[in-house]
Amino acid sequence: MRLILMGPPGAGKGTQAKVIGTHYGIPAISTGDIFRANVSANTPLGAEAKSYMDAGRYVPDEVTNAMVHDRLALEDCAPGFLLDGYPRTTAQVAELDKMLADLGVSLDAVIALTVEQDELVKRLLQRAHVEGRADDTEDVIRTRQHVYAEETAPLIAIYSERGLVIQVDGMGDIDGVSHKIFDAIDDRNRH
Ligand code: AMP
Repeated sequence: MRLILMGPPGAGKGTQAKVIGTHYGIPAISTGDIFRANVSANTPLGAEAKSYMDAGRYVPDEVTNAMVHDRLALEDCAPGFLLDGYPRTTAQVAELDKMLADLGVSLDAVIALTVEQDELVKRLLQRAHVEGRADDTEDVIRTRQHVYAEETAPLIAIYSERGLVIQVDGMGDIDGVSHKIFDAIDDRNRH
């Protein structure tokens, strides 16, 4: 199964990605996590990504695309994968299309998590408290929300036109949302 998980910052993508990956036995690939690991390990990729991440801006497409290209080539992606936080721009959609075509595979679904605005802010501020992420300050959160609305929200329409989008209500507890996602995917696979 090949899935994309989309949703605004604070929608619970990271949490749900791990649960979905485990449930279907596929790797959950988070571009944000890969960037953060590179920042922690002081790699050249981390050095390149850090200033964008700290400002709440997107890392340039060429950098992100190359990273995803290398990740999807690894053997554990053969049975499928879940992409968390990629693609985020129309250029990344086009590049992912090429990567999948080269691999001779296609997407099964794009899960779009929807969460009310007030709840998003509440969750992000809570995460700032618990995880201490450098990009969870109020200013940077606002930038990330703006960048998401401008650059990433339009991708839902692109994938909708391809009949791939499953909207899932991301409000409520983690378990409840996971089960809504499983039901939606399984339901789709039956038809
Ligand atoms: P996330 O953990 O998904 O919220 O990502 C954290 C940060 O990593 C983002 O705010 C961006 O700076 C960077 N990032 C993650 N995924 C992408 C992507 N697909 N394109 C560009 N930048 C990304």
